[in-house]
Order: sequence, then structure tokens, then C-alpha cells
Amino acid sequence: MPTISVSHSDSGLILAEVKRTDRVSPHIIRVTLAGGDLGSFAYRGFDQWFRLALPVRTNDRLDNLPQRFGFGGLLKFLTLPKGTRPVIRNYTVRQFHEGTGELDIDFVVHGTEGVAGPWASTAQPGSPVALIDQGCGWSPVPAEKSLIVADESGMPAALGILRDMPREAVGDAIIEIFDERDKQDVEAPDGMDVRWVIRDPDAPPGSQALPTLRGLPLAESLYAFAVGESALATGTRRHLVNDLGIPKSNITFCGYWRVGKASPS
Ligand SMILES: Cc1cc2nc3c(=O)[nH]c(=O)nc-3n(C[C@H](O)[C@H](O)[C@H](O)COP(=O)(O)OP(=O)(O)OC[C@H]3O[C@@H](n4cnc5c(N)ncnc54)[C@H](O)[C@@H]3O)c2cc1C
Repeated sequence: MPTISVSHSDSGLILAEVKRTDRVSPHIIRVTLAGGDLGSFAYRGFDQWFRLALPVRTNDRLDNLPQRFGFGGLLKFLTLPKGTRPVIRNYTVRQFHEGTGELDIDFVVHGTEGVAGPWASTAQPGSPVALIDQGCGWSPVPAEKSLIVADESGMPAALGILRDMPREAVGDAIIEIFDERDKQDVEAPDGMDVRWVIRDPDAPPGSQALPTLRGLPLAESLYAFAVGESALATGTRRHLVNDLGIPKSNITFCGYWRVGKASPS
């Protein structure tokens, strides 16, 4: 059971549109949103995430979506007429530019399957979207050290946390990607040891991060954050709890996607 938290801000349903797209590396497309209600977006940094609604069929509507996406909001969404209901996926704020009100999202390009990945590859300026803020999953408890483990889908979260965490933080970060060229600049505290590990593109996610994790001499007093493909997130937690005795309450983890399975909404 993932422990990532949901905390809705007052910004509610935000309508915006694509301003530009930029292939920042072979498998990452940065989509910049602007306009609409983005001026009222309550930016919190770290791994702030949101529900992103994409109108992928002609009659899909964004204007009648719920203001929040808790239980009530989900029910409201599910009772909307099927032919008008957009696709919803979860994404992370890669960067919010307070001055211009522009919001960057880094999409993993993962082929033709699914909706959001292929949408990002072909999105045009002016394409409408909607988003509902879900807050930050990063919720540290007092501990000597921090640990961050992520794959390419969690790279925006990992890089956002490293950028925004206290400069005196110490610990480790493992970011697993499948192509070295997708590496991005890191603004981490000096005390955070950031390791990029590259898995074979045909190997299962986690196949480099988990052995690397097992080789680390970790502190007993630890707060850990693990996100990415389900096996990476749960494998990290299992190792920390079962092998190292880290309390479950010191671990935030979330399967961001699952090999061979589409997102539920
Ligand atoms: C809180 C949170 C934040 C997230 N932030 C980001 C983010 O900033 N950037 C990002 O790229 N993703 C992010 N994700 C993951 C993203 O929501 C999923 O990858 C989602 O499944 C993509 O939707 P889709 O329509 O492209 O594919 P789906 O329709 O969900 O799936 C179709 C097929 O594609 C496969 N697939 C889905 N995602 C991937 C992937 N990343 N790599 C390879 N195969 C895949 C599935 O296994 C399935 O077989 C986040 C997820 C969560 C929960």
C-alpha cells in the first residue's frame, strides 16, 4: 500500500494550455503549460504532483471536472458521461516559474502505449489541459539521514526534492534511468551523495537501483522516499524494513507505474 500523501490546496481545478514542448533528452519531453488559471497555482516545490486531465477525444470536456480529486471528486469524475470524460494521469511539477506562471512537466517517452506519454510526444501549443494539485509526497520525519530512490518517472520528484531540501541535509540518492543521456543537472545539498545508475533498457526497472541500495551502508536513523516502477518502490521498502529494521513510518513509497499495466483512471 503506497504511503504517498494527498493534500489538496485551495487552487482547485486549474485550466491551462500547452505553451511549448521541448525534447530535453532522448526519452524526456518537457511540456510547458501556461495561461488559464495557472496564476492561482499554489506552488510548493519538492515532489509536488497533480492529476492531469487530457482531452484525447473530440467531445472530452475539462470545464465540469471536480475541484478536488479525493473520494468525492473521484466519484463525481466517474459519474460524468463516458464520452466526455478526459483521461487522467499523475504527474510531477518539474519546475514552476513564479514570474511567468509557467509550469514544466517532464514526461517519460515510453512508446506508443498509453495516453499521456504519446500525448506529450505530439502535444501542440494551445492544446488545453486541466490539473488538480495533490500536494507533496515528501514528508520527512526527524532522522539523521535521508534516502531517495527513483527511476526515470520519479526523476522529477527526486530532482525537485534535492533542489528544495535543507542545504544541511545528508544522505544518499539513487536515480535509475535506462539511458545515460537522460541524466539531468542536480542541485543537491553537498551532504547528499547522488548516484546515477543505468539499467539495461531490456532489464526490469529497479535492476540497478536495488543492488546499489543493498550495497550502501545506511544509517539506522533514516527517512526514505522511494518512487518509480512498482517493483522498485516496494523492493526498496522491503529491504529497508525487513533487512535493516527501518520503521515503516520512516518510509514514503509509491509505485508510479507498473510494467504492463495502464494507470487506472
Ligand atoms: C505521484 C506520481 C507522479 C508522477 N510523476 C511523473 C512524472 O513527472 N513524469 C513521468 O513521466 N511519469 C510520472 N508518473 C508516472 C505516470 O503517471 C505513469 O507512467 C503513467 O502510467 C503514464 O500514463 P500513460 O497514459 O502514458 O500510460 P498508461 O496508459 O498508464 O500505461 C500504458 C502502458 O505503458 C506502460 N508505462 C506507463 N508508464 C511507463 C513508463 N514511465 N515507462 C515505461 N512504460 C510505461 C504501462 O506499463 C502500460 O503497459 C507519476 C506517477 C505518480 C503516481
